[in-house]
Amino acid sequence: MTSSTPRPKLRFPFLDLQAQFATIRKETMDAVVRVMEAQQFILGHEVQKFEADAAAYIGSAEAVGCGSGSDALLLALMAHGLQAGDEVITTPFTFIATASVPAHLGVRPVFVDIESQTYNLDITQIEAIISPRTRAIIPVHLFGLPADLKPLMELAARRGLKVIEDAAQALGAHYGDQNVGTFGSSGCFSFFPSKNLGGAGDGGLLTTNDPGIAAVLRRLRDHGSTQKYFYERLGVNSRLDALQAAILRVKLKYLPKWTAARRKNAEYYRVLIAQHGLQRYICPPSEPDNCTHVYNQFTIRARKRDELRAFLMEECCIPTEIYYPYPLHLQKAFAYLGHRAGQFPQAEQASREVLALPIYPELTREQQELVVQSIADFYKQHACDADC
Ligand SMILES: *Cc1c(COP(=O)(O)O)cnc(C)c1O
Repeated sequence: MTSSTPRPKLRFPFLDLQAQFATIRKETMDAVVRVMEAQQFILGHEVQKFEADAAAYIGSAEAVGCGSGSDALLLALMAHGLQAGDEVITTPFTFIATASVPAHLGVRPVFVDIESQTYNLDITQIEAIISPRTRAIIPVHLFGLPADLKPLMELAARRGLKVIEDAAQALGAHYGDQNVGTFGSSGCFSFFPSKNLGGAGDGGLLTTNDPGIAAVLRRLRDHGSTQKYFYERLGVNSRLDALQAAILRVKLKYLPKWTAARRKNAEYYRVLIAQHGLQRYICPPSEPDNCTHVYNQFTIRARKRDELRAFLMEECCIPTEIYYPYPLHLQKAFAYLGHRAGQFPQAEQASREVLALPIYPELTREQQELVVQSIADFYKQHACDADC
């Protein structure tokens, strides 16, 4: 964004990582110093400790750290033997990496539309597009809400497909009484700073209940080496830094508390939206009974979304974000897939209507009241009926 016009000063940021750091400053700095004193930066003790903590938290047999959430997807696809000419089924309403990573391996992303309520893969549409080349399904637990995993796992088992969960936004989310990342053959997590567990830079993690796959992942992330300077299969350089692991270990202890705060904020938004009678203009995120949403994003659907967003920023100094403004099947980079507008109508409509409100754990009730009051002010000024 080029801005010659000065941006208004925000009332509060969209995500306040400084507020979070202030609460864990000493522990974090101690962890950083510990790593600096050890001068052991690649994998090693800190990474092993963090992997053990993460596996225990998620409830998976194994956890394998790597360089980023995107690399977690790459390593999972490689470990499961996907190769050029294969197909994976996924959603067009997600972050680019979900589909660009398979594409880098020559694996074709085959899109299926989303459900309008959950923004997740519409499981009922998968069966019809399975081809002899389909090898895997990559469900995304978008915004922190699990995809509908029970029918998905049944379908995958029946059709002999792998499931690789893109759980980048959903660490700690449950489907039934089980964590996401433990359903598929692998779960992929990201520690990008804006995720619910964010590092001081890039980082990622894979989960699996298969010790054989875990061993393959550990080799693949380290150039494929079986023993130093001996290689049976080519891998990549994608290791979790000891510094990141040490910082993430500190933060993982607080994740349940932060998740509870996000969920409480989501509840309060729902109350405020109902109190202001805004349901006819905006639609809060849905949370099916069998799921625990971890609200990496609190994404509403809004009438006159772009005008609302501009009003909130310019008149009220309230930041919002759009995840995602353009679905993947229409991106230029995927022109070679030959899609056209109208092919995935739910994803296309969502990209025109969604708006993410600030939801971070440190957000106060007063700030939330200001957000919803401002939304109410907008619709008062732009009075339109329920169908506008
Ligand atoms: C963040 C994210 C990724 C990629 O994670 P990085 O750590 O940024 O590489 C992949 N998929 C989804 C859905 C994400 O939100």
